Amino acid sequence: MQCDLVVIGAGPGGYTAAFRAADLGLAVTLIDRNPSLGGVCLNVGCIPSKALLHAAKVISDARAMATHGIVFGEPRIELEKLRQWKGKVITQLTSGLQALAKQRKITVVKGDAAFKSANSVVVTAENGTTELEFKQTIIAAGSEPVRLPGLPYDDPRVMDSTGALALTDIPERLLVIGGGIIGLEMATVYAELGSKVTVVELLDGLMPGADRDLVKPLEKRLKSLLSAIYTGTKVSAVTATEAALEASFEGKGAPGTATFDRILVAVGRQPNGSQLGLEHAGVELDPRGFIATDKQMRTNVPHIFAIGDVTHGPMLAHKATHEGKVAAEVAAGHKAAFDARVIPSVAYTDPEVAWVGLTETAAQAEGIAYDKAVFPWAASGRALSLGRSEGSTKLLFNKTDRRVIGAGIVGVNAGDLISEAALAIEMSCDAEDIGLTVHPHPTLSETVAMAAEMFAGTITDLYVPKAKRA
Ligand code: NAD
Repeated sequence: MQCDLVVIGAGPGGYTAAFRAADLGLAVTLIDRNPSLGGVCLNVGCIPSKALLHAAKVISDARAMATHGIVFGEPRIELEKLRQWKGKVITQLTSGLQALAKQRKITVVKGDAAFKSANSVVVTAENGTTELEFKQTIIAAGSEPVRLPGLPYDDPRVMDSTGALALTDIPERLLVIGGGIIGLEMATVYAELGSKVTVVELLDGLMPGADRDLVKPLEKRLKSLLSAIYTGTKVSAVTATEAALEASFEGKGAPGTATFDRILVAVGRQPNGSQLGLEHAGVELDPRGFIATDKQMRTNVPHIFAIGDVTHGPMLAHKATHEGKVAAEVAAGHKAAFDARVIPSVAYTDPEVAWVGLTETAAQAEGIAYDKAVFPWAASGRALSLGRSEGSTKLLFNKTDRRVIGAGIVGVNAGDLISEAALAIEMSCDAEDIGLTVHPHPTLSETVAMAAEMFAGTITDLYVPKAKRA
């Protein structure tokens, strides 16, 4: 087979690149080893986890209303129905992608792709191999979970995120290794479904990378939801017996050993770059398996592009989709470049934690001067009416020109609210641009405007002493 452009990997980065390139007139072949398009994100990542987190939130909201006069009683979990619903959400999206690929006349090839040369790949599937020759290619092969050494991975009770999302059962006792985004999202789901969940995090705090003041309200809520959280702790060994999994811990406050029915390992992800035979194409990998690109997403071989988790930067679907568009446009001869100032991060825990641009943690580490304003959600009518006043919205400003350079939000729907701050940074907004924009009342989005008003000294929903007003 011959084509203009081969895209390897049909996750959010790959299918976006393929669709954009086809729209720009290229003859595109899209390869993925998975029978359904959508990659990890749609099939075994972002989307199924959000469906399950929604189910978890319904349980927790129903429980919370008991103290406000509406009592539902204990939920009865019908696991098969829940799995079916999650599956339906996935199928709706992945079959939608299939239809979108067909409308664009994209050739979809199932199988594992490996480079044979700088202009050809061999795709291996159960029914044989296909060789594809191309003028250009975009590598969007994604990432896979990191495996902690020494764990009994042949035991099906030891899971990665894919196994956890399969929701085979609701274990009585679940150990989550890794207090990062996946670990805490899945800990929330399983705890709400009834498991006794223990989280073990190697570093001193949960969700390293996020500012501590944003993690605090989440940590407080998790402490009451989960059985135990051990930070500064590592799992030194796991022994599998027929009855259970026995884990040994090393670290402050943790018991020597404890017994679990399942273990989720969520200690990060690693790029799939080393599985592609890139040496046959002359594409260079760094020692950790990442592919370096320029701003046009070209690798060291100019007609070979790379995007998403196989390249440097955060392993996030929305980064991959933007890079995918750039690579497709450049491949089609357009003058495009990846020029985003910031990429937002969101943990879809309860409360959600979201941040974009400069964090205080990074500012302090790098000695960057900044001003900040924090609006506490205890003063937000909408947050109070949701029974969730623990949130806060923080904006960071450049000291000299007063433009927004960072934002962090913790609270219900923080992941949706952070987009306004991302736009503010991209558009070089200052506090007045945000504060003087009329936000609808009563909404959580007002908290962004209120934080800006706090900085501008014009806030009326809180009292700021005269001396502290800008
Ligand atoms: P992560 O990097 O977010 O968290 C991994 C955590 O494991 C870290 O806190 C780390 O300190 C800890 N850890 C590492 N080794 C450990 C050990 N031996 N024992 C105990 N803890 C250990 O990674 P993740 O949660 O696995 O997620 C993987 C990737 O997927 C990340 O890049 C993440 O951004 C992305 N992701 C994003 C979302 C989202 O955007 N909502 C959701 C899921 C995953």
